[in-house]
Amino acid sequence: MKRSSRTKVSYGDQSAQLKEIRAFDPDHARWSFSSQQATLRRLTLAFAAFFRRVRAGETPGYPRFKGAGWFDTVTWPVDGDGCRWDSQPEHPTTTFVRLQGIGHVRVHQHRPVAGGVRTISVKREGDRWYVVLSCDDVPVRPLEPAGAVVGVDMGVASLVTTAKGRHVGNPRFLERSAEKLADAQRDLARKKRGSTRLRRAAALVAAQHRAVARQRLDLANKTALELVRDHDLIAVEKLTIKGMVRRAKAKPDRPGAFLANGQAAKSGLNRSIHTPQRCAACGHVAEENRPSQAVFACVTCGHTAHADENAAVNILRAGLVLQTDAQAA
Ligand SMILES: [Zn+2]
Repeated sequence: MKRSSRTKVSYGDQSAQLKEIRAFDPDHARWSFSSQQATLRRLTLAFAAFFRRVRAGETPGYPRFKGAGWFDTVTWPVDGDGCRWDSQPEHPTTTFVRLQGIGHVRVHQHRPVAGGVRTISVKREGDRWYVVLSCDDVPVRPLEPAGAVVGVDMGVASLVTTAKGRHVGNPRFLERSAEKLADAQRDLARKKRGSTRLRRAAALVAAQHRAVARQRLDLANKTALELVRDHDLIAVEKLTIKGMVRRAKAKPDRPGAFLANGQAAKSGLNRSIHTPQRCAACGHVAEENRPSQAVFACVTCGHTAHADENAAVNILRAGLVLQTDAQAA
């Protein structure tokens, strides 16, 4: 007879065990206890998410064992417990972070710290190391009213298109990076397993990936910041990613939602608005209105526009209606 055994390991058990390990292993005890506990908490979260998805009937991947090569972030939950930010304030031009078990590390600070430091993480990206701070009581800087609203269509050909027809691309520098990345990957594929050259080629591929990721994030951040600064209301679609990934579904439902100055989209206000097929001029909805990916041409009233711009106008209109509804409610 087949019998399955059940073992339950909780965060509390592991934390207690960690305490014992630290008691007889000085190498473990060199490091901050709170930081080690933070890692155990991440493990607990990974398994909790795994079992939640199993119970929901999904087929999640089993949490991966992360050896030293995989583990790229260490967190200290409280400034001053095993880690101290700006531990030598008598050096006004140089910032140091003190890490228990390591000592003082000089930090190249990108911008001044606002508020009080709460948690500190040290993150490795390839051969670079970053200190990431989360802060409490960061002063709020309210923006002046801009007197403008905007609808935004998010896409692949253009990152965003506004209702006024402004396109923010997926620009050329990303394509150039993609070519470099392809070169690096071809180079990597030719290297012998276990060789030093393979290790170097792999590091180069990773560096190219990071460069592309940083450029994309930078573009997204700058675009978002500009939109927030220049507008009082930004209407965006709530993208149904699952529907977008499953190509077989011919007409993915794209419910509309609006976000006003960072407020969460109000659930219950979402509804389908068929933005890609709806004419922004007369409201007619038809698949034939969209002869190609880029072109919108209404078969009823003859209105023509860039398809993304037409969608952005619909999104703005839907957002304004939702705002009116929300204010009336
Ligand atoms: Zn029309």
